Amino acid sequence: MGGGIVGIATAFFLAERGEHDVVVLEQGTLGSGTTKGGLGGIRHQFVDELDIRLSQLATEFWRDFDAFTSSVHRFEQNGYLFVTDSAEGVAALRASMTLYAKLGIEAEMVGPQQIARIVPGIRIDDLKGGRIGRRDGYGAPLDALAGFAAAAVVEGVRIIEHTCVDALLVEGGAVVGARTADGEIRADRVLLATGAWTAPLAATAGVQVPIWPYRRSIMEAGGPFPELVDIPLVIEWESGFHFRPYSHNGGAAQRFAMPNITATGATERGPAAPPEVFGSPTGDLSVPPQLEPWVKARGARRMAAFQELKITDSWSCNYEMTPDDHPIVGAVPGTPGLYIAAGFSGHGFMHAPATAQLIVEEMLDGKTTALDISDLSIERFRTGRKPFTAAVL
Ligand SMILES: Cc1cc2nc3c(=O)[nH]c(=O)nc-3n(C[C@H](O)[C@H](O)[C@H](O)COP(=O)(O)OP(=O)(O)OC[C@H]3O[C@@H](n4cnc5c(N)ncnc54)[C@H](O)[C@@H]3O)c2cc1C
Repeated sequence: MGGGIVGIATAFFLAERGEHDVVVLEQGTLGSGTTKGGLGGIRHQFVDELDIRLSQLATEFWRDFDAFTSSVHRFEQNGYLFVTDSAEGVAALRASMTLYAKLGIEAEMVGPQQIARIVPGIRIDDLKGGRIGRRDGYGAPLDALAGFAAAAVVEGVRIIEHTCVDALLVEGGAVVGARTADGEIRADRVLLATGAWTAPLAATAGVQVPIWPYRRSIMEAGGPFPELVDIPLVIEWESGFHFRPYSHNGGAAQRFAMPNITATGATERGPAAPPEVFGSPTGDLSVPPQLEPWVKARGARRMAAFQELKITDSWSCNYEMTPDDHPIVGAVPGTPGLYIAAGFSGHGFMHAPATAQLIVEEMLDGKTTALDISDLSIERFRTGRKPFTAAVL
């Protein structure tokens, strides 16, 4: 269930493993959930080891996407640069370096002068330093999704759009299929890759899933900014303001992501707490009016090229949050036939090839071999186990 990047990548990996009797049900059109709204950032620079290992597994795939899928996706490995204006920020960025060295991650601490050489026209007089992952970068979520979908369909996967799953079919405590307005579909295994919509659907099988929607926005300025076409994705550690080039179709635009701004003008990088009820998105994907002036002010403060930003496009989508900002991936204990891969809390695109490969291993082999992802099981929310330290960016 779900035709976002995770569901479609999973269909692709199932087909790769020789499973051709695969059906994807999507309530809208492919990518019409959160996937269409993302910034496309791909990085190894995380705090938790499992996130880094997922990035390593995913990046192997991103680098050779065209060979694996026979479709084109540009993974622009121009780097991912955190900058900070405080000594605390430098210390926080430095704290992960030991782990990166252990895992072979190519990240390095950089000073303000190095930052100025990497990003033309960036203001550095207020910066204390930064950290760059030179093998990181960014991609294009909808291009990747189209590539996965095309390859999956060639292998016989059926993708059915405009078909909402109203409920899961449960027999003897096991999930055996799905009910739609057009009838029932039976399946040996059912995967919920339904993003921010997962909780109410899982509830139809009596499974409580703590995933909820949290609206975030992106803005684009057409520029053009030809001198910035191959800069890293740049992110301010303190404010959460980030930008990347978006140079598809011959353009040289910049895309901006930002924290939410509360009614009192405070920046909010993630939800304060989980809601009492885990429901579906409300459908309100308007862009809060206070964001554009904030982005313009932040941009003008940081970059010479952003002094007179003209925002040419903007949109919102829902992060699919979980209480620990990590996804739920794996079989659902106590409910045979049901699997979940959802709740990526802002990282679902970059990790999609790894997630898909691993959930397919679990579905077909009963366990994963490429990487131990037992910490991502929904079990942690039932027992209160807290395997992660990271927070959403
Ligand atoms: C502003 C923003 C910036 C982001 N930036 C990044 C980034 O830089 N890097 C990164 O890795 N990630 C980023 N993300 C996160 C990333 O986009 C998501 O984690 C990822 O797209 C999730 O993919 P998904 O397939 O799990 O969910 P979705 O794309 O939401 O797909 C779920 C699909 O399930 C369908 N569905 C739901 N319920 C049903 C049902 N009952 N029946 C049938 N179909 C159903 C939906 O219509 C939807 O298409 C960002 C997200 C946002 C909002």
